[in-house]
Amino acid sequence: MPTPAKFLPWPDSIIPYVPNPKHKFWSTIIAAIMEMNLKTNVQFIPRTNELNYIYFKYETDVCNQSECIGMKYSDDGSGQFVNINKNCRNLHELGHVLGLIHEHQRSDRDQYIHVIKDKMDESCFSQTQIQAICHNSDNQQLPYNIHSFMHYWCTSGAKTNGQQTIVYRPNPSMKFDTPEYLNDLSIEAINRIYPTPYQIELPANNCTYKLHSIQASGCLDAGPHHIRSDSYPLPDTNPYLYWQIEQVCSTSGWNVLWNVQTQSYLDGGPSHTRNYHHGEQETNHYLHWKIHVVVNGGKFLQLENRAKSMYLSCGKKHVKKFESNDDQQILWSFYRVCLDR
Ligand SMILES: [Zn+2]
Repeated sequence: MPTPAKFLPWPDSIIPYVPNPKHKFWSTIIAAIMEMNLKTNVQFIPRTNELNYIYFKYETDVCNQSECIGMKYSDDGSGQFVNINKNCRNLHELGHVLGLIHEHQRSDRDQYIHVIKDKMDESCFSQTQIQAICHNSDNQQLPYNIHSFMHYWCTSGAKTNGQQTIVYRPNPSMKFDTPEYLNDLSIEAINRIYPTPYQIELPANNCTYKLHSIQASGCLDAGPHHIRSDSYPLPDTNPYLYWQIEQVCSTSGWNVLWNVQTQSYLDGGPSHTRNYHHGEQETNHYLHWKIHVVVNGGKFLQLENRAKSMYLSCGKKHVKKFESNDDQQILWSFYRVCLDR
């Protein structure tokens, strides 16, 4: 990957992406996105109409996996690609998107690792040499992170399969991989570029929203599907996905969610939605939801049902028992729908 002299971080710690559930590796891409969203200050959010965004390609035999280090600013809305195939570590490619270079290319790396060029395929040389202009690893004054998701694994580019090409000097017999998780130093490296944590916007009364689940790559649907891809048939054209939030009474903390298309309320029971009957809205606790802001200072919402003491879930069960704050099936985001377009 060519080294830019400088890179653009993403404004407001937000990286819009185009959901692509048909991608061969979509479930592992989502896992990487959630690892970023749950542990760091940044938030990958499904794109609505943002000018700069990423999209995921699947091409084999491509050497440039991430089009740009940091944000590729463009004014034509063409976006920047991230290519994910079986040779990629998903989280690693997202690291490039955020602006990180390889840990093993930082300028002080020779103190920590020995790169055995004789055993390495020449095609790997450019990816393993020290970069003259080095940003976001050693110039952050962070300790060397051998278990960084941005570090190549110990047999990278080996001419002979399984031969070690990178040796960790403090512990030469140690084998290491490129992990699909973030350790504390990796989290710190990201948060030093993005010091401001993303904070979710709370829904307001009398506005219309889509309720999105990253885990399901879709939105809450008032029809029998329960969840529907939000890009079908076109973004922001499916009123089955439109919900309005209304407080039951101004001090109770409980809300109802009203679907615009079906003229029904979100229901905690198996029927999923329930038709409106006069008066029921106030007294029927199955229709009442409390919104909790959770994860890392406020990145996601959970919706607790008053009657069932369970949480709205993107899984088959519609509502489920609380397991943990970062149970991905019960994490939701509200996105405001612009109906006036
Ligand atoms: Zn890389």
